[in-house]
Amino acid sequence: NTKLTKEWLQNYVDDWVNFYRKHTNEGELASYIPMLQQSNKEHLGITIIGNNGAMIESGDVNIPFTIQSISKVFTFIVACMERGVTYVLDRVDVEPTGEAFNSIMHLEMKQLKKPFNPFINAGAITVTSLLNGKTSDEKLKPLFQLFEEILGYHPPLNVDVFKSEKETSVRNRAIGYYLVELGYLESDLDLTLETYFKQCSIEISLQDLARLGMILANDGEDPKTGLEIIPRQVARLAKALMLTCGMYDASGKFAAYVGIPAKSGVSGGIIAVSPPRARNEELPFINGCGIGVYGPALDQQGNSIAGIRLLRHIAKQWDLSIF
Ligand code: GLN
Repeated sequence: NTKLTKEWLQNYVDDWVNFYRKHTNEGELASYIPMLQQSNKEHLGITIIGNNGAMIESGDVNIPFTIQSISKVFTFIVACMERGVTYVLDRVDVEPTGEAFNSIMHLEMKQLKKPFNPFINAGAITVTSLLNGKTSDEKLKPLFQLFEEILGYHPPLNVDVFKSEKETSVRNRAIGYYLVELGYLESDLDLTLETYFKQCSIEISLQDLARLGMILANDGEDPKTGLEIIPRQVARLAKALMLTCGMYDASGKFAAYVGIPAKSGVSGGIIAVSPPRARNEELPFINGCGIGVYGPALDQQGNSIAGIRLLRHIAKQWDLSIF
């Protein structure tokens, strides 16, 4: 394993990005948000940032994209930081559903006390309603502050995607009305949905995803400064949820075959988190790293089709599984 120099890893990643790019034609762009149809199906890129600050990137790494469902990880984190973990977990559970992210089925279950988890839309919209603030901008301010602290800049909103989502939001409105009926929302529905569509429309880069992932890999601490950006307990909880619920109804397979916490979004992004492990101590480039993947061609579950295959390959070859 001592051959894992930066140069070797770079060449390796380049080869496999080129290999898996062929798989993009087996997937489809998300169609229910019209603006996402304008992405290029053939794009595939990956960025890895290690604890030591080194970065490996390959493929289409300079295409900005909207964060979409990956935002659910960070609004959950912010809600826990604002309201406390107990308060949030009293209102949203931590169980995978095995259903699609926008499924409405479980909301009809008679014994349901709260949405199943914060990464399905019902749970994410509930979490967004818990954020402090009377306007969507106020509610999202701490999220942007967290991003700014980690990324060093304030990521922009993609206004076209935001409008596109808002105009085509029938399913999320249906979920929202159910949540109102069940008494789960702590903010007005229109405000909550506007905030939710905005959080999904934040535009980020692969480098951003990798950096966010690296902070989570270190339980919320910046390895460079030693500063705790996210409380350890909250970072760990977020990772447990990513592992069990992060990849929609393919989360079980992802845990089994890739074995690291990850969260995908419908624009084709995936954030993956590889925590440091004692047995990898002599491998500074990958012992503790965040990985961002972008490939907008999606599989049937809505995950980047080539992105998942690339991650699976790399995780296997580099022995990244946490198990
Ligand atoms: N904005 C999208 C939606 O609600 C996010 C979904 C996703 O990335 N899976 O529906």
